[in-house]
This record gives sequence, C-alpha cells and structure tokens, in this order.
Amino acid sequence: MSEDQLGKLCDIVSALGGNVNFTAEKLCFNSETLTIHVPFKWGLEDLYGLAHEIGHLKDHLENELNYDLWRNNSAYRLTVEMRAWTYSYDILMEAGIHTSNWSNHVNQKLSSYLNFPYQSLDALEGEAV
Ligand SMILES: [Zn+2]
Repeated sequence: MSEDQLGKLCDIVSALGGNVNFTAEKLCFNSETLTIHVPFKWGLEDLYGLAHEIGHLKDHLENELNYDLWRNNSAYRLTVEMRAWTYSYDILMEAGIHTSNWSNHVNQKLSSYLNFPYQSLDALEGEAV
C-alpha cells in the first residue's frame, strides 16, 4: 500500500466529518465521536478494514445504527456489516485502491458474523430499528 492511498482514505473520513486516530490497537469505529481508531498496520487488507469502518461511519450518518441490536441480534449485525462492506467497495474505488482480493476478504469476514445461535430478522419485530 502507499501512504498516498492511506491519505485518500483519511481525506474521505474528513469529508464525512469524521476523524482518524492512529493510536488504538484494534480497528473500530466510535459513533459518539465519529472517530475511526486504527492500528499501525497498513497492508492491503488493513486498508479494506479501514474502508469498512468508513462504511460504518457513512451508514451511521444516514441510518443511526442501533448498537444494542448490533451486539444482540445476529441478523441485524449481518445486515449492518454487509452494508458497511458494500460502502467499502465504493470507498476503495474512490481512493484508487486495488480491490483484487476484496471479495475473498469480505466472504471471510461475513461468515465470521454468523455466530450461533442465529436470531432471525423476525426477532426484530416490535423493536425500534
Ligand atoms: Zn464492521
């Protein structure tokens, strides 16, 4: 990866009104501060991960994510994660980052969200989403 590509991803975060913090150990998005915490690891798959977190930022700005449901309902979590991965592809294209292994990477990540017991979307009925 190049520093230029990382810089482009950071520019996209700024344009959305978010922040990048390079001090955390684990990649994550904090919706309260609109900050993406990123470790100092910058292989291609790490850029996919950052683009995914930018996807969460975009999704949060548009949909106001429900983090209790994200934690407790696997169907909701899978839907939210898939949306973030969908956004990530456009973000990577916008930043000019090579997406050759992107679909394999996403397949692996999505299967990891399918924790059992799996709660169906029907379990969301009556819940505010
Ligand atoms: Zn995610």
